[in-house]
Amino acid sequence: MEKINGKSIFNGIAIGKILFYSKDAGQVKRVKITDPRAEMERYNKAKEKAVEELNAIYARAVKEVGELNARVFEVHAMMLEDDTFHDSIQNIIETQHVNAEYAVATTGDNLSAMFAEMEDEYFRARAIDVKDIAERVISILLGKSRSNDIGNEPVIIVAEDLAPSETVQMDKEKLLAFVTRLGSANSHTAILARTMNLPALVGVDIREEWNGKTAVVDGSAGELIIEPDEATLAEMRERQEEIARNRELLENLKGKEDITRSGKKIKLYANIGGTGDVANVIKNDGAGIGLFRSEFLYLESGDYPSENDQFQAYRTVAENMAGKKVIIRTLDIGADKQVDYFRLEKEENPAMGYRAIRICLDRTDIFKTQLRALYRASAYGSIGIMFPMIISVEEVRQIKTIVEEVKKELDEQQIQYGSVELGIMIETPAAVMISDLLAEEVDFFSIGTNDLTQYTLAIDRQNSRLDHIYDAHHEAVLRMIRMVVENGHKHNIWVGICGELGADLSLTREFIRMGIDELSVSPGAILPIRKIIRETE
Ligand code: PEP
Ligand code: MG
Repeated sequence: MEKINGKSIFNGIAIGKILFYSKDAGQVKRVKITDPRAEMERYNKAKEKAVEELNAIYARAVKEVGELNARVFEVHAMMLEDDTFHDSIQNIIETQHVNAEYAVATTGDNLSAMFAEMEDEYFRARAIDVKDIAERVISILLGKSRSNDIGNEPVIIVAEDLAPSETVQMDKEKLLAFVTRLGSANSHTAILARTMNLPALVGVDIREEWNGKTAVVDGSAGELIIEPDEATLAEMRERQEEIARNRELLENLKGKEDITRSGKKIKLYANIGGTGDVANVIKNDGAGIGLFRSEFLYLESGDYPSENDQFQAYRTVAENMAGKKVIIRTLDIGADKQVDYFRLEKEENPAMGYRAIRICLDRTDIFKTQLRALYRASAYGSIGIMFPMIISVEEVRQIKTIVEEVKKELDEQQIQYGSVELGIMIETPAAVMISDLLAEEVDFFSIGTNDLTQYTLAIDRQNSRLDHIYDAHHEAVLRMIRMVVENGHKHNIWVGICGELGADLSLTREFIRMGIDELSVSPGAILPIRKIIRETE
């Protein structure tokens, strides 16, 4: 038994087998072979397995994210069967007498470079697909597993680092916990772990030899225990049961109002990353959704999601929430959320760079597509839209002009839409300081404390070395929240918090004292907060 320390990003205990996730499938050696026919046979077998895998992923994805979003996996299977791919590999193996891994990697690189050069956006986007299928076949040839297809047994994922795009594609039912060496407590991968209710540790000195071993992730102690002895296992199971018992006590709060003793009602909403998280919101009795991070639709997809694909996703969420409020945040990519097909240039300082609303106001075609999908979905529920990273009144006016254009188009096409609340995220110090002016422009404010803390304290939220001084309790942040609530209320609009600080139980009472109207938190935090709200004067 061995205990290793890490930094906890979500409590709870997970017990299970480790799956070591490495991304080095692309690092392929060129090895001379003597029997090209046997090598081709190896390739053919690996290809068949890859097609099988893709078909299985496709079937699963249809259930989880719908047919349109799943289509990318069908396309991958078709590309693998394509002659161009096959012939190039055969040619390399036969003429150069080299291993199949090398032939696949070279073919993948060549074809993807060719696609990347093409004029047509559709073909340019295929560059990533070719790379992806090549990596899949190489992984099979090397006998390695890819994290996205994590097998049938639930596992603890151990990795050097995980990007939000990787995490979001994993089969959530098979995940017990995340353990990484890199990554900060405030990154989006950490936030996803919380949304999925998964114990998670970062800053762990990970080792590949743990692959397949039994382990315990103790989220409360910030410990990873490799090959626990019987006594430890028994203790951990006991603690797991205790956590489950506490949860059961909270179950009594389901169906109860979010109201303080003196009668102040709080909107207690949930944060989600996609349609798959709605069940968890309903299970935890969320009164609505206060932040749907819509960019995950873009991260999950291999190409720009169409208006119709997006409409289906927003409509599904609105319908499943059955008339309860659903606030969808428009695309917030950039910084740690990179989407390959956007082809964003590498920046010196991405957190302060070309991201979120800055991209949308620049590439209005993408923005309008999303707004059309959102307005169309508003006919099926109670939708609110909010805009990220606002710094000026000018931006809000520009947004409102575009929104009016979209509504006018829909009117002309006689497409129905409902009445939509429009709000902005307050997550830059600039927005805080002019919140009195911004309040005149919108229906609500939602304070994004994750970014607000980052920009106020000048600490990159991705930088794990600075986690210990990234202090969302800093008086500067709390004063800003107070100021935003006051300015919002002066102009009769409601003010909420959708950053992670909103779920900080030690601050719930303080937020209520400040006059906060809404808290939007990961689904698992709803009932503990309801308990505090109902106990507060
Ligand atoms: C925030 O910044 O607090 C927020 C809710 O948005 P995100 O974490 O997605 O940047
Ligand atoms: Mg933010």
